[in-house]
Amino acid sequence: MRAFSKRETREFYRRLAATRPIPQTELEFISPFTLLVAVVLSAQATDTGVNKATPALFALADTPEKMLALGEERLIELIRTIGLFRTKAKNLMGLSRILVEQYCGEVPRDRAALEALPGVGRKTANVVLNVAFGEPTIAVDTHIFRVANRTGLALGKTPLAVELALEACTPAEYKRYAHHWLILHGRYVCKARKPECPDCVVADLCHYGAKTGPAELIAARAGLGEPAALADPPPARHTGRRAIRSAERSGLSSPRQRVRRRP
Ligand code: SF4
Repeated sequence: MRAFSKRETREFYRRLAATRPIPQTELEFISPFTLLVAVVLSAQATDTGVNKATPALFALADTPEKMLALGEERLIELIRTIGLFRTKAKNLMGLSRILVEQYCGEVPRDRAALEALPGVGRKTANVVLNVAFGEPTIAVDTHIFRVANRTGLALGKTPLAVELALEACTPAEYKRYAHHWLILHGRYVCKARKPECPDCVVADLCHYGAKTGPAELIAARAGLGEPAALADPPPARHTGRRAIRSAERSGLSSPRQRVRRRP
């Protein structure tokens, strides 16, 4: 699949930004610590499921000190509707203890320190850095991984590869909210099983070869009439040795032959 040109990338983000100028995370939280807890709980679970459990939890434990005072057994009771609740409860107790002992109960604004906490990987650290501290990090979850690869925005075989590709291609002014725009686009429009291509604002930019819906409808709805102008100019015709050999092998007139034919 062809990767996006710079102009296509900028236009892709411009349109997503126009649909949601200030996107928000759908997880409910009231502080960096409660955000960290919510993100840890959301691993392999839905935001909706996490949001059902966290109001009662945060009413009792909205700081690491209170979480430790709550205790693991009581915590398990409060989050048992969420998948992997026993492991998550153990991790939340462990990370609360570290926050109290090493960071005066505060969530550190530092990737390495965050990733050293139990249950916190690169994706969770990126979400906390982005949402709680406004850092321009792009956490790659299943939705973003799919959207980036499916559209051609940023290709990669692993979440880290896609994250680095997004870091490299996303214009600076869009980095702050890129994570949210991509995740919400993947969750509500570019869905895993059946993407809503006829209603997609970036349909004419997207390189996915199996779009849903009639092509005319997709073009009409996206309908900004800009794609041709957005494409980068084609690269200059290659006249190096490789092109000459390739043309000769295929029996076509090669740049070398054309040169020889000149009077
Ligand atoms: S056109 Fe379809 S596949 Fe492409 S980004 Fe939009 S919803 Fe996803």
